[in-house]
Amino acid sequence: RQEQYRSLRDLPSVTRDGVPVTLQLNAGLIVDLSHLAETGAEGVGLFRTELQFMVAERMPTAAEQQVLYETVFDAVGDRPVTIRTLDIGGDKVLPYMKALEEENPALGWRAIRIGLDRPGLLRMQLRALLKAARGRPLKIMFPMVATVEEFVRARAIVEREKAHLARHGYPLPVDCRLGVMVEVPSLLFQMDEIAAEADFLSVGSNDLMQFLFAVDRENRQVANRFDPLSAAALRAFRLIAERAAAAGTPATVCGEIGGRPLEAMALIGLGFRALSMSPASLGPVKAMVLGLDAAAVSAFLEQELARTRDGASLRPALAAFAEAH
Ligand code: PEP
Ligand code: MG
Repeated sequence: RQEQYRSLRDLPSVTRDGVPVTLQLNAGLIVDLSHLAETGAEGVGLFRTELQFMVAERMPTAAEQQVLYETVFDAVGDRPVTIRTLDIGGDKVLPYMKALEEENPALGWRAIRIGLDRPGLLRMQLRALLKAARGRPLKIMFPMVATVEEFVRARAIVEREKAHLARHGYPLPVDCRLGVMVEVPSLLFQMDEIAAEADFLSVGSNDLMQFLFAVDRENRQVANRFDPLSAAALRAFRLIAERAAAAGTPATVCGEIGGRPLEAMALIGLGFRALSMSPASLGPVKAMVLGLDAAAVSAFLEQELARTRDGASLRPALAAFAEAH
């Protein structure tokens, strides 16, 4: 099968009815980037910067961070890469940073919340990124944003860093785009505002499902009690795709579901045109895309979502559809 997927590597990722679907990789360590050439992915849709911090023995210095990001940019070359700022807290702890005692760490002091409360840490990372991306495009996104205001504040910090570097004569990235992870359900009710404010959106389905269904993503006991192909979840994804498209803001899915062929098929049916996934998923998802009639799966999903009354999963129906096509 791996051989068979390799033969798809250089084919453009386009559905049978001519819809291009961008397939990218999720990465977090430099070694992950070696999969780019091997899979034929169109860049990195999610680079999780916290992994580098988690394997370090102490907080990486500004200079060390800059070298790391330069290595990332060198490795991706001309391909696009979306860098996510530190997503620490919750289950991702830095051994050298004093952890808070929290009753509910998943709902606690984490990600952008730490970044905005301790702007020194966020500023250091942003400055390292801006310096490392001199002369090339830069895409940065912020994790666990719950309100438009948080993103506006994060953007202001980036603008300040850019102005600071420009004042000191540093060359800047040629194009700097700022995005938001859609992974806290409150954003579902601020879609028009966040889609207007952000340059791009990226759906973190792992956390979005966890918070939408109140189901700990790491807890086996409860993890199977919900299905990302249930009507509730699909309607949430559809809302994001629709509102992003209406605003003309690109939206990617970078959670694990984008890497499963049946789920990826549904996401394309709901209107997503870019998915980011682990390297091993790229071949199977690309094979699905090449055989897909996107318009047919859209029509089928619309019909099923309009018809369902019990909130049951559409997985069996979607699997039957996939089998028949
Ligand atoms: C997600 O939440 O879906 C996501 C991509 O981020 P992480 O898995 O790193 O929380
Ligand atoms: Mg997440």
